[in-house]
Amino acid sequence: MIRSTCPYCGVGCGVLLRQTANGVEVKGDPDHPANFGRLCSKGSALGETVGMAGRLLAPRIHGAEVTWDAALDLVAQRFSETIARHGPDSVAFYVSGQMLTEDYYVANKLMKGFIGSANIDTNSRLCMASSVAGHRRAFGSDTVPGLYEDFECADLVVLVGSNLAWCHPVLYQRLSAAKAARPGLKVVVIDPRRTATCDLADLHLALTGGADGVLFNLLLVAIADRGALNHDYLRHVTGLEEALAAARASNPADTGPTDTGLNPADLATFLTLWTQTERVITVYSQGINQSATGTDKVNAILNCHLASGRIGRPGMGPFSVTGQPNAMGGREVGGMANMLACHLDIENADHRAAVQGFWAAPTMAGKPGLKAVDMFRAVGDGRIKALWIIHTNPAVTMPDADRVAAGIKGCDFVVVSDIMADTDTTRLAHVLLPATGWGEKDGTVTNSERRISRQRAFRAPPGQARADWWALAQVGQRMGFAHAFGWTGPDQVFEEYARLSGVAGRLGSDFDISNRVGGDYDAMVPFLWPDGPARQGGRFFGGGRFHHADGKARMLPITPAVRAQTPPYPFRLNTGRIRDQWHTMTRSGLSPRLGNHIGEPFVELHPADAATLGLGPATLATLSSPHGTALLRVLITDRVAQGEPFAPMHWTGETAPTGRIDALVAPVVDPISGQPDSKATPVAITRFAAGWYGYGVAATEFRPDCAYWARRVTDTGMGAELAGLAEPADWQATARLWFGLPEAEVMHVVDAKRGSTRLALVGGGRVLAALFIARDPVAVSRGHVTQHIGQPPTPGLLAGQPGAGTPDTGATICACFNVGVTTITRAISEQGLLTVEALGAALGAGTNCGSCRPEINALISRHLSSVLEAAE
Ligand code: SF4
Repeated sequence: MIRSTCPYCGVGCGVLLRQTANGVEVKGDPDHPANFGRLCSKGSALGETVGMAGRLLAPRIHGAEVTWDAALDLVAQRFSETIARHGPDSVAFYVSGQMLTEDYYVANKLMKGFIGSANIDTNSRLCMASSVAGHRRAFGSDTVPGLYEDFECADLVVLVGSNLAWCHPVLYQRLSAAKAARPGLKVVVIDPRRTATCDLADLHLALTGGADGVLFNLLLVAIADRGALNHDYLRHVTGLEEALAAARASNPADTGPTDTGLNPADLATFLTLWTQTERVITVYSQGINQSATGTDKVNAILNCHLASGRIGRPGMGPFSVTGQPNAMGGREVGGMANMLACHLDIENADHRAAVQGFWAAPTMAGKPGLKAVDMFRAVGDGRIKALWIIHTNPAVTMPDADRVAAGIKGCDFVVVSDIMADTDTTRLAHVLLPATGWGEKDGTVTNSERRISRQRAFRAPPGQARADWWALAQVGQRMGFAHAFGWTGPDQVFEEYARLSGVAGRLGSDFDISNRVGGDYDAMVPFLWPDGPARQGGRFFGGGRFHHADGKARMLPITPAVRAQTPPYPFRLNTGRIRDQWHTMTRSGLSPRLGNHIGEPFVELHPADAATLGLGPATLATLSSPHGTALLRVLITDRVAQGEPFAPMHWTGETAPTGRIDALVAPVVDPISGQPDSKATPVAITRFAAGWYGYGVAATEFRPDCAYWARRVTDTGMGAELAGLAEPADWQATARLWFGLPEAEVMHVVDAKRGSTRLALVGGGRVLAALFIARDPVAVSRGHVTQHIGQPPTPGLLAGQPGAGTPDTGATICACFNVGVTTITRAISEQGLLTVEALGAALGAGTNCGSCRPEINALISRHLSSVLEAAE
């Protein structure tokens, strides 16, 4: 089997791949130190996402297929002309944490060393730029001090702004297993939402959204006042007095914007736990980073670990977990606008000269380039005239996404490299370059613990798809830099990168992998940097030795600020991920079973907010901000706080045009990191006065024409949730039009009294499509009607529910074994199976990847609560 790495989150799990007649078999790699054989639901479903549907298979110019030579010549010509006319800062690359390190290296070299601008930024800017900035302020380098094994050897794990169960599931599984083996290991979750991760928590602190800085300031004061300062370690640190004074000044007892909103007893428990536990790690993610004060929040956390000396030793330290598979690799290789390769500083003249000398570069960027939000502002106002977007979908994912899309559309020259032909961003490109996807490309990625692993191909690239490093190098050659871009494989790119890291190491950089020069690239096994003789067991800073000039770390004075919500936008919208989808779903959306978990965009609303707004379960709500609107399914739950709704970020113009959540998000950024404030958008919410709701399902792709639709791949074709204002005059004609079946026979049932219409379109003796319309959200079993597509028509289809002999399974909870919520709740209530293990033994649910175990536990808890309530 081929050893490779999962292309989704920053855990960086190892996978074993085998090509089969039907695609690829994927298993967790038992020898990979990130996952030891485990995979989550997304990783387990990788084999279902490598089909050719929708792939971009040839270069295109203005939509017409062309040769690679023609496309590359045009790209090189337009970039060269633009630079000649308007200067190097008139062009930009917007790249991605999906790229391999070798791709990143070539893009960075071309832009910073040969074009002479630093206008290259990555979608990792949206993900963990605040961690980078916080690390650099505190440590003098962007260095993650700890290792994954710290999750297992800590006595206290604090998860802040991190839904680890859904966003880094294998790390959650490792933590869960560690806690099961050693119940004394305490877990605290700090999150305004009661997420699936809380299933593991001894304590959940549902703090007011954005108040993390206040909380960690308070912790710093407790560390100082309760004798937890580590004076021996503080010899390696400066800034304690100033940080402490600022922390004392932010009094959480005040009402108003600095209030944590926490129950005093819970707060006291947390402070006691943290100050009295030596082995503590604080794990944080987007809930900290995606903030207008994200860098300060990061430094508020780092302050506590520096003050207590709990860093760089087993089970101790701050731990930023990255969102993307190669976000860390992008940081190392200089894929951001304010960094050079190998952790060297673009502001440092010696560093610039060293890199320029190594590259023999004709010119060198002399200052940081535009960070993502500013880059797209410059695209919009015409300062950027040529833009190359690689493996990312900014027309959906950038804040103020509608304006970003308009900017890209108006840009003089746009190149997009992607594996998919139709995305919100590819539609705006002048030139499309077909890229190799996961399983077709070779290179390296770095995970959240600094472990570099190989991604390896298991099949040849389809059509004319080519690696990104190759396309970038070809453009570099055509721009006149043949001598510097002449690699023949990613191994040669890696070799050059490793040699450059040796230069960086001699300048004091911690990122030095030059002992890999001359190594066997094909046989490379996952390794931590720094490698060679183990340095502090692979950890950093246990003995100090920071990267500021004096060798000391910096504690920073933090004055927290929380944006207050005011009319006409009284709600604070939080955004994030769901368990079974990845980014804009171009890959994970191809798996029917992943789509069965959550099939459409939604907004989680507190019951009191829903009541005030007059919103019932499964109705639709319009969310609006000064930047855009979204129309979302209402999910009423006390998992969110009043006034703090949550909506996921995955849906696009292809899957749910009114669900593009980043159209609402303001382009407000942290002033230091440039990271957008994606978890605190002021919004208004109103009821969408739907005249009808619907569900449609068909054997082939269809694109309805109504106010709301959200479609997904099913086992038998495609399904879509639908809604509109006024009903069409003729549902039969509408169905024929939407499904593209003008000649189909129609079976239909109309209940005028209830306002429902159900119809099936039949051709060749098989059901080709079906449509269910009602005045209220449609109560048909999606799984049941999906199974009728492609089958001879039977009355059971239009009944919309399975017969007594075949119970409805409900929405999928366990994606590995396709076990639905109804099946599980029945097993709980009818068979009395009241543990995850018992349900697993009976149904299989939760026994493979384990990603669904928190949800199964929640179903058990809900059942037990209802039993108790009934008994009272
Ligand atoms: Fe992939 Fe899941 Fe591992 Fe993340 S946790 S790398 S998504 S298998």
